Amino acid sequence: MEDVIIIGGSFAGLTAAMQLGRARRKVTVLDTGLNRNRFAGHAHNIFGHDGTPPGALLERARQQVAAYPSVTLINEAATALSGAPDAFSVATATGDSLSGRRIILSYGITDEMPAIPGFAESWGKTVVHCPFCHGYEVAGKPWGVLYSSPMSLHGPVLYANWTDDITLILDGHAIPDDERARLEQRGVRIIAEKLAAIEETSGVLRAVTLADGRSVELSALFAHPRNRPSAGLHGQLGLDMKDTPTGTMVAVGDMQATSRPGIFAAGDLTTPMHSVTFATNSGSLAAMGALQSMMV
Ligand SMILES: Cc1cc2nc3c(=O)[nH]c(=O)nc-3n(C[C@H](O)[C@H](O)[C@H](O)COP(=O)(O)OP(=O)(O)OC[C@H]3O[C@@H](n4cnc5c(N)ncnc54)[C@H](O)[C@@H]3O)c2cc1C
Repeated sequence: MEDVIIIGGSFAGLTAAMQLGRARRKVTVLDTGLNRNRFAGHAHNIFGHDGTPPGALLERARQQVAAYPSVTLINEAATALSGAPDAFSVATATGDSLSGRRIILSYGITDEMPAIPGFAESWGKTVVHCPFCHGYEVAGKPWGVLYSSPMSLHGPVLYANWTDDITLILDGHAIPDDERARLEQRGVRIIAEKLAAIEETSGVLRAVTLADGRSVELSALFAHPRNRPSAGLHGQLGLDMKDTPTGTMVAVGDMQATSRPGIFAAGDLTTPMHSVTFATNSGSLAAMGALQSMMV
C-alpha cells in the first residue's frame, strides 16, 4: 500500500513527490512524459533556472526525486481510479493495479491546437501564450494577439510592457464598440478577418496570412487555445470542476483538496494561472494536504 499515488510526474507531481519523499512517505509517481511546455526550447521566469530547457529541468528533478528510497517513479499512464481514503485503487495502462491511502492528481492539461496551418509547428516558439515566459526575447517587435475569448481583450494592455506595436486579430469575432475604442486609443491595430495561416520557418514566425489574402508581418503571435485535462480520472470519481476562460479545471479548496476526501490535485489541472512556479507551489501544497490528512 502506497501512502500517496501521484498521477502526473512533471513540475507539480515531482514537487509533491520530493516533499513526501523527504517526509519518508511511500510514494509512487505515474507519468507519461508529456509535460505541457515540451514544445518550448527554454523555460523562463523560474527561480534559479531562467532559460533552462524544460526537459533538462524535469530530468534533473526526476534524478533528485528518485534518490529518495521511499519514492518510485513509473513511466506509465494511469487509466482508472476508484476507492476511498486509505483504500484507493489506480489501474495502469499495462494492467497493473496500485493501492494507496491518498491520491494527488497532477496530470496537467492539453492545448487543443486550432487547425490553422503553421500554428502547431510554431507553438511554444513564436506562437505563445505567456508574455512572462516568451515576451522578453521579442520585446519591441511587432506582436499579434489572436482573439479567442473576451479575455483576449485584456492581453494588449499587459503586452504594452513589452512592445507598442500590437495587432489584435479578431478572427471573425465581434467585440463591443467601447472595447474597440479603448484598445484603439492605446494604439492597438484591430483586424476583423479570420486568420488563415501562419508563415513560419522551423517554428519561427515571419508573418500571418488573413482570409482575405493580406499578410501581416509579426515576430510573435499570442494565442490561448482551448485546453482540457490530459486524462479523465477526475470524471471517474465525479470531482467538482470549475470553468475558466480557456477550459474546465478540477476545483480545489484549502491545501489543494478536491471535492472528494483523500484526493488532492495540483498544477495546471487546477488553475487558469499556468506557470512552472504556480505548478510547483500547488504541488507542494497538495503534498502538505495529503500528509496532514494522514496524520489525523
Ligand atoms: C508552450 C508552452 C511554454 C511554456 N513555457 C513556460 C515557461 O517558460 N515558464 C513557465 O513558468 N511556464 C511555462 N509554461 C507553463 C508550464 O508548462 C505549465 O504551467 C506546467 O508545465 C504545469 O505543470 P504540471 O505539472 O501541472 O503539468 P505538466 O507539466 O503538463 O505535466 C503533466 C504530466 O502528467 C502526465 N500525464 C498526463 N496524463 C497522465 C496519466 N493518465 N497518467 C500518468 N501521467 C499522465 C503528462 O505526461 C505530464 O508529464 C509553458 C506552457 C506552454 C504550453
